[in-house]
Amino acid sequence: MKKKVAVLGATGSIGKSTLDILRNERERFEPVLFTAHSAAEELQKLKKEFPGALTALANNNACFASGACVDGNACATGDAYVAGTSPALPGIDFLGSEGLLDAIAAAGADVAVNGISGAAGLEPSAAVIKSGSDLALANKETIVMAGRIIFTLAEEKKVHIIPVDSEHSALFSLIEAHGKNNVSEIILTASGGPFRNYPPEKLAAVTPEEALAHPTWNMGPKITMDSATLANKGLEVIEAAGLFGFPPEKIKVVIHPQSIVHSMIRLKNGAVYAQLSKPDMRLPIHEALSWPETEHSPYGALDFDSLSLTFEKPDFERFPMLALAYEALKRGPFLPTIYNAANEVAVEAFFKGEIGFLEISRLVGYVLSKDFTEEEGTGSIESILVLDKKARELAGNFIRSR
Ligand code: NAD
Ligand code: MG
Repeated sequence: MKKKVAVLGATGSIGKSTLDILRNERERFEPVLFTAHSAAEELQKLKKEFPGALTALANNNACFASGACVDGNACATGDAYVAGTSPALPGIDFLGSEGLLDAIAAAGADVAVNGISGAAGLEPSAAVIKSGSDLALANKETIVMAGRIIFTLAEEKKVHIIPVDSEHSALFSLIEAHGKNNVSEIILTASGGPFRNYPPEKLAAVTPEEALAHPTWNMGPKITMDSATLANKGLEVIEAAGLFGFPPEKIKVVIHPQSIVHSMIRLKNGAVYAQLSKPDMRLPIHEALSWPETEHSPYGALDFDSLSLTFEKPDFERFPMLALAYEALKRGPFLPTIYNAANEVAVEAFFKGEIGFLEISRLVGYVLSKDFTEEEGTGSIESILVLDKKARELAGNFIRSR
Protein backbone atom coordinates (compact mmCIF):
# COMPACT_ATOMS: atom_id res chain seq x y z
CA MET A 1 0.00 0.00 0.00
CA LYS A 2 1.19 3.48 -0.83
CA LYS A 3 1.97 5.86 2.01
CA LYS A 4 -0.32 8.91 1.93
CA VAL A 5 1.73 12.08 2.26
CA ALA A 6 0.65 15.66 3.06
CA VAL A 7 3.10 18.42 2.14
CA LEU A 8 2.69 21.56 4.23
CA GLY A 9 4.60 24.46 2.69
CA ALA A 10 4.72 22.67 -0.67
CA THR A 11 5.99 25.76 -2.52
CA GLY A 12 9.05 26.32 -0.31
CA SER A 13 12.50 24.80 -0.25
CA ILE A 14 11.59 21.77 1.92
CA GLY A 15 8.30 21.42 0.04
CA LYS A 16 10.03 21.28 -3.35
CA SER A 17 12.57 18.75 -2.12
CA THR A 18 9.67 16.63 -0.85
CA LEU A 19 7.91 16.93 -4.21
CA ASP A 20 11.03 15.64 -5.94
CA ILE A 21 10.89 12.50 -3.81
CA LEU A 22 7.15 12.03 -4.40
CA ARG A 23 7.63 12.37 -8.16
CA ASN A 24 10.55 9.92 -8.16
CA GLU A 25 8.73 7.30 -6.10
CA ARG A 26 5.13 7.36 -7.27
CA GLU A 27 4.87 3.65 -6.55
CA ARG A 28 5.60 4.23 -2.83
CA PHE A 29 3.96 7.56 -2.05
CA GLU A 30 0.57 9.13 -2.75
CA PRO A 31 0.29 12.90 -2.16
CA VAL A 32 -2.98 13.77 -0.42
CA LEU A 33 -2.51 17.46 0.43
CA PHE A 34 -0.44 20.45 -0.69
CA THR A 35 -0.48 23.76 1.18
CA ALA A 36 1.08 27.17 0.60
CA HIS A 37 0.80 30.68 1.93
CA SER A 38 0.14 32.83 -1.16
CA ALA A 39 1.42 30.97 -4.20
CA ALA A 40 -2.01 30.09 -5.62
CA GLU A 41 -0.74 29.39 -9.12
CA GLU A 42 1.83 26.87 -7.91
CA LEU A 43 -0.86 25.04 -5.94
CA GLN A 44 -3.15 25.05 -8.97
CA LYS A 45 -0.37 23.42 -11.03
CA LEU A 46 0.14 20.79 -8.35
CA LYS A 47 -3.60 20.06 -8.37
CA LYS A 48 -3.41 19.43 -12.12
CA GLU A 49 -0.42 17.13 -11.67
CA PHE A 50 -1.96 15.25 -8.70
CA PRO A 51 -5.77 15.64 -9.09
CA GLY A 52 -6.44 13.32 -6.15
CA ALA A 53 -4.71 15.62 -3.65
CA LEU A 54 -6.38 18.43 -1.71
CA THR A 55 -4.97 21.97 -1.81
CA ALA A 56 -5.03 24.70 0.82
CA LEU A 57 -3.94 28.32 0.53
CA ALA A 58 -3.39 29.97 3.92
CA ASN A 59 -3.75 33.55 2.71
CA ASN A 60 -7.37 34.10 1.77
CA ASN A 61 -6.53 37.45 0.21
CA ALA A 62 -4.04 35.71 -2.02
CA CYS A 63 -5.78 37.06 -5.12
CA PHE A 64 -3.59 40.15 -4.65
CA ALA A 65 -0.35 38.23 -4.63
CA SER A 66 -1.19 35.87 -7.49
CA GLY A 67 -2.80 38.48 -9.75
CA ALA A 68 -5.63 35.97 -10.12
CA CYS A 69 -8.27 38.35 -8.74
CA VAL A 70 -11.27 38.62 -11.05
CA ASP A 71 -13.68 39.70 -8.35
CA GLY A 72 -12.50 43.27 -7.75
CA ASN A 73 -15.17 44.01 -5.16
CA ALA A 74 -14.20 41.12 -2.96
CA CYS A 75 -10.57 42.18 -3.11
CA ALA A 76 -11.25 45.87 -2.52
CA THR A 77 -13.23 45.22 0.63
CA GLY A 78 -10.70 42.65 1.76
CA ASP A 79 -13.43 40.00 1.86
CA ALA A 80 -12.14 36.50 2.08
CA TYR A 81 -12.80 34.13 -0.78
CA VAL A 82 -14.74 31.01 0.00
CA ALA A 83 -12.97 27.86 -1.13
CA GLY A 84 -14.39 26.27 -4.25
CA THR A 85 -16.80 29.13 -5.01
CA SER A 86 -14.49 31.70 -6.50
CA PRO A 87 -13.81 31.50 -10.22
CA ALA A 88 -10.45 33.16 -9.49
CA LEU A 89 -9.10 30.21 -7.59
CA PRO A 90 -10.19 26.96 -9.24
CA GLY A 91 -8.40 23.94 -7.86
CA ILE A 92 -7.96 25.45 -4.40
CA ASP A 93 -10.01 23.40 -1.95
CA PHE A 94 -9.39 25.23 1.35
CA LEU A 95 -8.62 28.88 2.09
CA GLY A 96 -7.38 30.89 5.04
CA SER A 97 -5.41 29.75 8.07
CA GLU A 98 -8.48 27.96 9.50
CA GLY A 99 -9.03 26.34 6.12
CA LEU A 100 -5.47 25.05 6.22
CA LEU A 101 -6.15 23.32 9.55
CA ASP A 102 -9.42 21.89 8.18
CA ALA A 103 -7.54 20.59 5.13
CA ILE A 104 -5.07 18.76 7.38
CA ALA A 105 -7.97 17.14 9.24
CA ALA A 106 -9.63 16.14 5.94
CA ALA A 107 -6.53 14.84 4.16
CA GLY A 108 -6.24 11.45 5.91
CA ALA A 109 -2.44 11.39 5.52
CA ASP A 110 -0.24 8.67 6.99
CA VAL A 111 2.53 11.21 7.35
CA ALA A 112 2.70 15.01 6.90
CA VAL A 113 5.90 16.86 6.07
CA ASN A 114 5.76 20.24 7.79
CA GLY A 115 7.92 22.61 5.71
CA ILE A 116 6.13 25.80 6.73
CA SER A 117 8.54 28.52 7.78
CA GLY A 118 8.48 30.15 11.20
CA ALA A 119 5.99 30.27 14.05
CA ALA A 120 3.16 29.84 11.51
CA GLY A 121 4.06 26.14 11.44
CA LEU A 122 3.06 25.47 15.06
CA GLU A 123 -0.72 25.17 14.74
CA PRO A 124 -0.49 23.06 11.56
CA SER A 125 1.86 20.67 13.43
CA ALA A 126 -0.70 20.32 16.22
CA ALA A 127 -3.44 19.77 13.60
CA VAL A 128 -1.38 16.99 11.97
CA ILE A 129 -1.01 15.19 15.29
CA LYS A 130 -4.69 15.66 16.17
CA SER A 131 -5.62 14.16 12.79
CA GLY A 132 -3.71 10.99 13.72
CA SER A 133 -0.90 11.37 11.13
CA ASP A 134 2.79 10.99 11.83
CA LEU A 135 4.69 14.27 11.60
CA ALA A 136 7.88 14.57 9.51
CA LEU A 137 9.02 17.80 11.05
CA ALA A 138 11.20 20.36 9.29
CA ASN A 139 9.48 23.27 11.06
CA LYS A 140 11.86 23.51 14.04
CA GLU A 141 9.78 26.33 15.52
CA THR A 142 7.14 23.75 16.52
CA ILE A 143 9.58 22.17 18.99
CA VAL A 144 11.26 25.44 19.97
CA MET A 145 7.93 27.03 20.91
CA ALA A 146 5.90 24.13 22.21
CA GLY A 147 7.97 20.93 22.45
CA ARG A 148 6.36 19.63 25.63
CA ILE A 149 2.80 20.31 24.49
CA ILE A 150 3.44 18.73 21.11
CA PHE A 151 5.04 15.58 22.57
CA THR A 152 2.19 15.16 25.07
CA LEU A 153 -0.30 15.49 22.23
CA ALA A 154 1.65 12.99 20.10
CA GLU A 155 1.65 10.49 22.95
CA GLU A 156 -2.10 10.88 23.43
CA LYS A 157 -2.73 10.37 19.73
CA LYS A 158 -0.11 7.59 19.42
CA VAL A 159 1.62 9.24 16.47
CA HIS A 160 5.32 9.68 15.78
CA ILE A 161 7.36 12.83 15.30
CA ILE A 162 10.29 12.22 12.96
CA PRO A 163 12.79 15.06 12.64
CA VAL A 164 13.69 16.32 9.17
CA ASP A 165 16.17 19.06 10.11
CA SER A 166 19.41 17.44 8.87
CA GLU A 167 21.25 17.58 12.21
CA HIS A 168 18.29 16.17 14.10
CA SER A 169 17.63 13.52 11.50
CA ALA A 170 21.25 12.43 11.95
CA LEU A 171 20.94 12.48 15.75
CA PHE A 172 17.63 10.60 15.62
CA SER A 173 19.27 7.70 13.72
CA LEU A 174 22.44 7.77 15.81
CA ILE A 175 20.57 7.74 19.12
CA GLU A 176 18.20 5.04 17.86
CA ALA A 177 21.19 2.91 16.82
CA HIS A 178 23.23 3.29 20.02
CA GLY A 179 20.54 3.70 22.68
CA LYS A 180 19.97 6.96 24.54
CA ASN A 181 21.31 5.58 27.82
CA ASN A 182 24.74 5.14 26.24
CA VAL A 183 25.00 8.72 24.95
CA SER A 184 26.87 11.25 27.10
CA GLU A 185 26.50 14.28 24.80
CA ILE A 186 25.27 15.34 21.40
CA ILE A 187 27.30 17.49 19.04
CA LEU A 188 25.52 19.62 16.44
CA THR A 189 27.53 20.74 13.44
CA ALA A 190 27.11 24.22 11.93
CA SER A 191 28.49 25.49 8.63
CA GLY A 192 29.29 28.85 10.26
CA GLY A 193 27.46 30.67 7.46
CA PRO A 194 28.87 33.21 4.99
CA PHE A 195 30.39 35.46 7.70
CA ARG A 196 32.33 32.81 9.59
CA ASN A 197 35.60 34.71 9.27
CA TYR A 198 34.29 38.29 9.29
CA PRO A 199 35.64 40.65 11.97
CA PRO A 200 32.98 42.61 13.94
CA GLU A 201 33.48 45.87 11.99
CA LYS A 202 32.79 44.07 8.71
CA LEU A 203 29.74 42.31 10.22
CA ALA A 204 28.18 45.70 11.02
CA ALA A 205 27.90 46.55 7.33
CA VAL A 206 26.75 43.28 5.76
CA THR A 207 23.70 43.38 3.48
CA PRO A 208 20.73 40.99 3.13
CA GLU A 209 22.11 39.89 -0.27
CA GLU A 210 25.42 38.86 1.32
CA ALA A 211 23.61 37.09 4.16
CA LEU A 212 21.48 35.15 1.68
CA ALA A 213 24.51 33.66 -0.10
CA HIS A 214 24.89 30.47 1.96
CA PRO A 215 28.14 28.59 1.30
CA THR A 216 26.79 25.00 1.41
CA TRP A 217 22.96 24.81 1.64
CA ASN A 218 20.23 26.13 -0.66
CA MET A 219 17.28 27.00 1.62
CA GLY A 220 14.44 29.50 2.16
CA PRO A 221 15.38 33.12 3.05
CA LYS A 222 14.58 33.05 6.79
CA ILE A 223 16.66 29.98 7.66
CA THR A 224 19.48 31.17 5.38
CA MET A 225 19.55 34.46 7.26
CA ASP A 226 19.51 32.58 10.58
CA SER A 227 22.51 30.59 9.39
CA ALA A 228 24.42 33.83 8.93
CA THR A 229 23.73 34.98 12.53
CA LEU A 230 23.95 31.41 13.96
CA ALA A 231 20.38 31.89 15.24
CA ASN A 232 19.58 28.77 13.22
CA LYS A 233 22.06 26.79 15.31
CA GLY A 234 20.61 28.43 18.41
CA LEU A 235 17.12 27.26 17.42
CA GLU A 236 18.55 23.82 16.66
CA VAL A 237 20.18 23.52 20.11
CA ILE A 238 16.74 24.21 21.60
CA GLU A 239 15.13 21.81 19.10
CA ALA A 240 17.62 19.07 20.07
CA ALA A 241 16.93 19.60 23.77
CA GLY A 242 13.19 19.23 23.08
CA LEU A 243 13.44 16.25 20.75
CA PHE A 244 16.03 14.18 22.59
CA GLY A 245 15.73 15.34 26.21
CA PHE A 246 19.35 16.40 26.82
CA PRO A 247 20.17 19.36 29.11
CA PRO A 248 21.91 22.40 27.55
CA GLU A 249 25.35 21.47 28.93
CA LYS A 250 25.20 18.15 27.06
CA ILE A 251 24.45 19.77 23.71
CA LYS A 252 27.58 21.09 21.97
CA VAL A 253 28.02 23.00 18.73
CA VAL A 254 31.02 22.66 16.45
CA ILE A 255 31.67 24.65 13.27
CA HIS A 256 32.17 22.37 10.28
CA PRO A 257 32.25 24.50 7.11
CA GLN A 258 31.86 21.64 4.60
CA SER A 259 28.41 20.53 5.94
CA ILE A 260 29.24 16.85 5.38
CA VAL A 261 29.08 15.65 8.98
CA HIS A 262 25.47 16.38 9.94
CA SER A 263 25.85 15.73 13.65
CA MET A 264 27.54 13.43 16.16
CA ILE A 265 26.98 11.67 19.44
CA ARG A 266 29.60 10.96 22.08
CA LEU A 267 29.03 7.74 23.98
CA LYS A 268 29.81 7.31 27.68
CA ASN A 269 33.03 5.47 26.70
CA GLY A 270 34.25 8.62 24.89
CA ALA A 271 33.85 7.34 21.32
CA VAL A 272 32.18 9.69 18.84
CA TYR A 273 29.80 8.49 16.10
CA ALA A 274 28.81 10.70 13.18
CA GLN A 275 26.45 10.73 10.20
CA LEU A 276 28.02 11.85 6.89
CA SER A 277 26.36 12.66 3.56
CA LYS A 278 26.27 15.38 0.93
CA PRO A 279 24.26 18.44 2.01
CA ASP A 280 20.94 17.53 0.34
CA MET A 281 17.70 17.85 2.33
CA ARG A 282 16.09 15.14 0.22
CA LEU A 283 18.03 12.56 2.24
CA PRO A 284 16.57 13.42 5.69
CA ILE A 285 13.11 13.97 4.13
CA HIS A 286 13.35 10.54 2.47
CA GLU A 287 14.48 9.05 5.78
CA ALA A 288 11.49 10.56 7.58
CA LEU A 289 9.04 9.41 4.90
CA SER A 290 10.47 5.88 5.01
CA TRP A 291 10.84 5.58 8.80
CA PRO A 292 10.94 3.12 10.57
CA GLU A 293 12.53 1.46 7.52
CA THR A 294 15.68 2.66 5.75
CA GLU A 295 15.00 2.49 2.02
CA HIS A 296 17.38 2.83 -0.91
CA SER A 297 17.79 6.49 -1.89
CA PRO A 298 19.78 8.31 -4.58
CA TYR A 299 20.38 11.36 -2.38
CA GLY A 300 23.44 12.40 -0.46
CA ALA A 301 25.89 9.56 -1.25
CA LEU A 302 29.46 10.71 -0.61
CA ASP A 303 32.52 10.35 -2.76
CA PHE A 304 35.60 10.14 -0.52
CA ASP A 305 38.15 10.87 -3.26
CA SER A 306 38.33 14.60 -2.66
CA LEU A 307 36.93 14.99 0.82
CA SER A 308 38.48 17.16 3.46
CA LEU A 309 36.72 17.82 6.74
CA THR A 310 37.57 20.55 9.23
CA PHE A 311 36.17 21.56 12.61
CA GLU A 312 36.39 24.80 14.64
CA LYS A 313 35.07 26.24 17.86
CA PRO A 314 32.05 28.55 17.45
CA ASP A 315 32.67 32.21 18.35
CA PHE A 316 29.93 33.13 20.83
CA GLU A 317 31.08 36.77 20.94
CA ARG A 318 30.90 37.54 17.25
CA PHE A 319 27.68 35.50 16.97
CA PRO A 320 25.71 36.31 20.14
CA MET A 321 22.53 34.67 18.82
CA LEU A 322 24.03 31.30 19.74
CA ALA A 323 24.80 32.43 23.30
CA LEU A 324 21.30 33.91 23.63
CA ALA A 325 19.73 30.61 22.56
CA TYR A 326 21.60 28.74 25.32
CA GLU A 327 20.52 31.43 27.77
CA ALA A 328 16.87 31.13 26.67
CA LEU A 329 17.05 27.34 26.96
CA LYS A 330 18.54 27.50 30.46
CA ARG A 331 15.98 30.05 31.63
CA GLY A 332 13.12 28.16 29.80
CA PRO A 333 10.52 26.80 29.36
CA PHE A 334 8.87 29.84 27.76
CA LEU A 335 11.97 31.85 26.81
CA PRO A 336 12.65 29.93 23.58
CA THR A 337 9.29 31.13 22.22
CA ILE A 338 10.36 34.70 22.97
CA TYR A 339 13.80 34.17 21.41
CA ASN A 340 12.18 32.84 18.26
CA ALA A 341 9.51 35.56 17.95
CA ALA A 342 11.99 38.40 18.53
CA ASN A 343 14.36 36.89 15.99
CA GLU A 344 11.60 36.56 13.37
CA VAL A 345 10.78 40.27 13.77
CA ALA A 346 14.47 41.20 13.70
CA VAL A 347 15.14 39.24 10.51
CA GLU A 348 12.19 40.87 8.75
CA ALA A 349 13.43 44.30 9.86
CA PHE A 350 16.94 43.48 8.61
CA PHE A 351 15.53 42.41 5.22
CA LYS A 352 13.66 45.74 5.01
CA GLY A 353 16.83 47.68 5.85
CA GLU A 354 15.36 48.95 9.15
CA ILE A 355 18.13 47.50 11.33
CA GLY A 356 21.72 46.40 10.78
CA PHE A 357 23.14 42.88 11.19
CA LEU A 358 24.56 43.51 14.67
CA GLU A 359 21.25 44.92 15.87
CA ILE A 360 19.51 41.56 15.35
CA SER A 361 21.07 40.09 18.49
CA ARG A 362 20.71 43.39 20.37
CA LEU A 363 16.99 43.35 19.65
CA VAL A 364 16.62 39.72 20.73
CA GLY A 365 18.67 40.35 23.90
CA TYR A 366 16.46 43.35 24.69
CA VAL A 367 13.22 41.37 24.32
CA LEU A 368 14.59 38.44 26.36
CA SER A 369 15.42 40.87 29.19
CA LYS A 370 11.75 41.90 29.55
CA ASP A 371 9.30 40.53 32.10
CA PHE A 372 6.87 37.92 30.73
CA THR A 373 5.64 36.44 34.01
CA GLU A 374 2.08 37.70 33.42
CA GLU A 375 1.85 35.97 30.04
CA GLU A 376 3.37 32.64 31.04
CA GLY A 377 -0.07 31.04 31.32
CA THR A 378 -0.95 27.40 31.29
CA GLY A 379 1.37 25.92 28.74
CA SER A 380 -1.35 25.56 26.08
CA ILE A 381 -0.72 26.46 22.46
CA GLU A 382 -2.98 29.48 22.92
CA SER A 383 -0.83 30.72 25.81
CA ILE A 384 2.33 30.16 23.76
CA LEU A 385 0.82 32.35 21.03
CA VAL A 386 0.12 35.09 23.61
CA LEU A 387 3.82 35.07 24.56
CA ASP A 388 4.80 35.09 20.91
CA LYS A 389 2.58 38.13 20.30
CA LYS A 390 3.95 40.10 23.25
CA ALA A 391 7.54 39.35 22.19
CA ARG A 392 6.73 40.63 18.68
CA GLU A 393 5.21 43.82 20.10
CA LEU A 394 8.28 44.48 22.24
CA ALA A 395 10.53 43.81 19.26
CA GLY A 396 8.48 46.29 17.20
CA ASN A 397 8.87 48.89 19.98
CA PHE A 398 12.64 48.38 19.95
CA ILE A 399 12.78 49.02 16.21
CA ARG A 400 10.55 52.11 16.36
CA SER A 401 12.36 53.65 19.35
CA ARG A 402 15.81 53.64 17.75
P1 NAD B 1 10.57 28.54 2.59
O1 NAD B 1 10.45 29.98 2.91
O2 NAD B 1 11.36 28.14 1.39
O3 NAD B 1 9.11 27.92 2.43
C1 NAD B 1 8.12 28.13 3.38
C2 NAD B 1 6.80 27.49 2.98
O4 NAD B 1 5.84 27.78 4.00
C3 NAD B 1 6.19 28.03 1.67
O5 NAD B 1 5.52 27.00 0.99
C4 NAD B 1 5.18 29.07 2.16
O6 NAD B 1 4.10 29.24 1.25
C5 NAD B 1 4.69 28.45 3.46
N1 NAD B 1 4.28 29.47 4.43
C6 NAD B 1 4.97 30.58 4.80
N2 NAD B 1 4.28 31.29 5.70
C7 NAD B 1 3.12 30.61 5.92
C8 NAD B 1 1.97 30.86 6.73
N3 NAD B 1 1.87 31.95 7.50
N4 NAD B 1 0.97 29.96 6.70
C9 NAD B 1 1.04 28.86 5.92
N5 NAD B 1 2.08 28.58 5.11
C10 NAD B 1 3.11 29.45 5.12
O7 NAD B 1 11.14 27.83 3.90
P2 NAD B 1 12.09 26.54 4.02
O8 NAD B 1 13.50 26.94 3.85
O9 NAD B 1 11.55 25.43 3.19
O10 NAD B 1 11.93 26.19 5.56
C11 NAD B 1 10.74 25.64 6.09
C12 NAD B 1 10.97 25.13 7.51
O11 NAD B 1 11.90 24.05 7.46
C13 NAD B 1 11.59 26.16 8.47
O12 NAD B 1 11.11 25.95 9.75
C14 NAD B 1 13.08 25.84 8.42
O13 NAD B 1 13.76 26.20 9.59
C15 NAD B 1 13.03 24.32 8.27
N6 NAD B 1 14.22 23.75 7.62
C16 NAD B 1 14.49 24.08 6.34
C17 NAD B 1 15.62 23.56 5.71
C18 NAD B 1 15.93 23.87 4.27
O14 NAD B 1 16.86 23.29 3.71
N7 NAD B 1 15.22 24.76 3.61
C19 NAD B 1 16.48 22.71 6.43
C20 NAD B 1 16.15 22.39 7.74
C21 NAD B 1 15.02 22.91 8.33
MG1 MG C 1 19.54 22.18 10.27
